[in-house]
Amino acid sequence: MDGMNILVINCGSSSLKFQLINAQSEQLIAKGICERIGMDGSSMTYSPADGEKQETAAPMKDHTAAIRLVLNALTDDKTGVVKSLDQIGAVGHRIVHGGESFAKSTVITDEVLKAIEECNDLAPLHNPANLIGINACRELMPQTPMVAVFDTAFHQTMPEEAYLYGLPYHYYEDYRVRRYGFHGTSHSYVSHRAAAMLGRAYEDLKIIVCHLGNGASISAVKEGKCVDTSMGLTPLEGLIMGTRSGDIDPAIIEFLCNKENKSVHEILNVLNKESGVLGLSEGFSSDFRDLEKGYRAGEAPSIRAMKAFAYRVAKYIGAYTAAMNGVDVICFTAGIGENNPFIRNMICSYLGYLAITIDREANEKRGQEMEISTFDSRTRVLVIPTNEELAIARETYALVK
Ligand code: ADP
Repeated sequence: MDGMNILVINCGSSSLKFQLINAQSEQLIAKGICERIGMDGSSMTYSPADGEKQETAAPMKDHTAAIRLVLNALTDDKTGVVKSLDQIGAVGHRIVHGGESFAKSTVITDEVLKAIEECNDLAPLHNPANLIGINACRELMPQTPMVAVFDTAFHQTMPEEAYLYGLPYHYYEDYRVRRYGFHGTSHSYVSHRAAAMLGRAYEDLKIIVCHLGNGASISAVKEGKCVDTSMGLTPLEGLIMGTRSGDIDPAIIEFLCNKENKSVHEILNVLNKESGVLGLSEGFSSDFRDLEKGYRAGEAPSIRAMKAFAYRVAKYIGAYTAAMNGVDVICFTAGIGENNPFIRNMICSYLGYLAITIDREANEKRGQEMEISTFDSRTRVLVIPTNEELAIARETYALVK
């Protein structure tokens, strides 16, 4: 195969997702996931693009062991996709929090590693795992250039009035408490695709991107720059999500601590893991496929959860339309945004004031780039499957080629 192959790594605390992508053709060569790293019952799923998916149970005591297995699978005589590690030109790492230090992707050096480590405080569950992934790759591929691509970077263009909270200013100065935003790679990829689909210059548009997956966030992109986004210091703020509450009155935390005799930590755990549509549906499901079935069957918990979810999205669209003094195009992406016509319809039913009409037939399709508003809609509505791995591969290639 011609050109450089880029290994994209997304490392969580006990899992590691990977894709090998050719930078020239942008074709996926192989992908997979290692799960339960450091626990009993760890396994790797490996799928070469033109071969069979394999699932191997294999002990992985740590992330280095997991990456060693990934590299072995990619270079295996029979099922591998490259002859040797020399055919992997660079590694792109997804990093959750870049704080204010990183407004762009960057080649990883010792100084960069130190700066990422300094952001650990801001994302204690994610950044340490991301760093472990980088160190493991560096150990096994010491000569291969590595690039860090940050979830927060795209949002660093937000103006002060959008990123500051109404708190004593010294909390920002002392601790960098502010809005950062996440899913940046996706918001960037989708907003650029939207401009391309419309055949318009990116810098001329007002774009709202609704990234609706288990984690959900929404962003306002005005004239080529992100000007606001719904996630904050952490990914807990903003939309109602699969299991996360999104925006709540902060006083609820102390109120519930007292009522339930729980610690702040325990209540935050409820806000992260037992809330959102899962909580609203009385524990029925965080998955919109289940909720849609429930809704259609007339079940109150599912109806309540989906209505609250759609209403919150619509409210943010209104806020961001105000922030940008208008909107040209609204994009839906991620698991729900790409695949759930029902919820897209519920959200758009609030948007008549933007002169949006949804083309019912177009909206029934899923998982492909398409326009779902009618030709006479003043604001256009697009569905754009996100591709964070491809975006990371592109960023990586641009920095190492
Ligand atoms: P994550 O934030 O974990 O990456 P995803 O983007 O995978 O989340 O989104 C998960 C949600 O997307 C689930 O609620 C699920 O119902 C929905 N979803 C994913 N694939 C489909 C599909 N093919 N049809 C309908 N809904 C889907």
